Amino acid sequence: IEPASDDVILAQMRRQAQVAIEKADVIVFLTDMRCGVTADDYEVASMLQKSGKPVILAVNKCDGIGEPPPEFYEFYNLGMGDPFPVSALHGHGSGDLLDEIFKYFPKEDTPEYDEEYIKVAVIGKPNVGKSSLINRIAGEERAIVSDIAGTTRDATDTIIENEDGKYVFIDTAGIRRKSKITEKIEHYSVLRAYMAVDRADVCVIVIDALVGFTDQDSKVAGYAHEQGKACIIVVNKWDAVEGKETNTMELQRRGYAECFSFMGYAPIIFISAQTGYNVNKLMQLIRDVDAQNGARVPTGVLNEMLARATAKVQPPSDKGKRLKVFYVTQISTRPPTFVCFVNQKALFHFSYQRYLENQIRAVFGLTGTPIRITIRQKGDKEDM
Ligand code: GDP
Repeated sequence: IEPASDDVILAQMRRQAQVAIEKADVIVFLTDMRCGVTADDYEVASMLQKSGKPVILAVNKCDGIGEPPPEFYEFYNLGMGDPFPVSALHGHGSGDLLDEIFKYFPKEDTPEYDEEYIKVAVIGKPNVGKSSLINRIAGEERAIVSDIAGTTRDATDTIIENEDGKYVFIDTAGIRRKSKITEKIEHYSVLRAYMAVDRADVCVIVIDALVGFTDQDSKVAGYAHEQGKACIIVVNKWDAVEGKETNTMELQRRGYAECFSFMGYAPIIFISAQTGYNVNKLMQLIRDVDAQNGARVPTGVLNEMLARATAKVQPPSDKGKRLKVFYVTQISTRPPTFVCFVNQKALFHFSYQRYLENQIRAVFGLTGTPIRITIRQKGDKEDM
């Protein structure tokens, strides 16, 4: 695509590219490492971004073996996520590129919804109250409700629209189905929960207050975390907990926080699907964490934060050499993913990464979502 050209043939080609973009499920944007990032590349990138289709950025002519050269990292500036180094000549990188392309193949049998719908997976063990919760929300929110029988047999999608937003609740309640092979039920219910998580923006992990935390909860929550989904931990049946005192909730909250310490960002809320207690608050939380999962932080303010953070707590050093974080930029959302350019990866200790992550969270209010930080090292020549 030659974006700015009056040439008739080139204009024709551009139109053909436009048709291809419209018809595609996934787009590979091929750039040339030898030319570097050109003005046209930026034009094409913004054109592709407008298409709303998944775009994979491939950088061709990375002919050498091993780490790509420093100029490769310029391609991050296109804001299309991680670029894939490839060599059409030698075939390097084509496997990774194909794997990435494959990820975006349309999944058959799953209904698709517009971007404006917040897709919420309601997951948890049988009988914790997942169906009750969805019924309660559907009843309480003066909502338009419609059930779509999922073609993935047991999951049912419930669409809820109200003045605050549009939601699709993905229910995995079907897992209670009686089966002769009872020992397999647990296994299948976990698998089905994984499929629901894959389709969701927000994962609501429901726990029965009368039963408490189980291993299965941490398994499924861990999966949601790894997949970069916004998460909320919901302790249901709070109405049925006996002998509650003023600090019971706070004590329990601390207990659950410990069980889910690997996802400290996830809010914990106590509700009752039966009485409706805190259900409105849960809806608010769903909107909040969804917004945070999709948040985009401008590079300017991000680097102002970096300057303040590194001034406040000096980066670590080792054998006289100090970590320098040159630059940080957000490369994608869902979850918010940042790339830090540093002088030497090995100096970027986990504790300092944690510190920067917490700073990003605190400054930009990213509380309900996992965030990812990738580290890039500058080329050896600049490595001082
Ligand atoms: P699911 O298997 O997770 O979908 O659970 P259900 O929604 O079918 O609920 C299982 C049982 O828990 C039913 O008997 C519900 O009436 C009960 N239940 C659900 N939510 C609550 C709640 O908030 N409080 C109480 N006391 N019982 C509830």
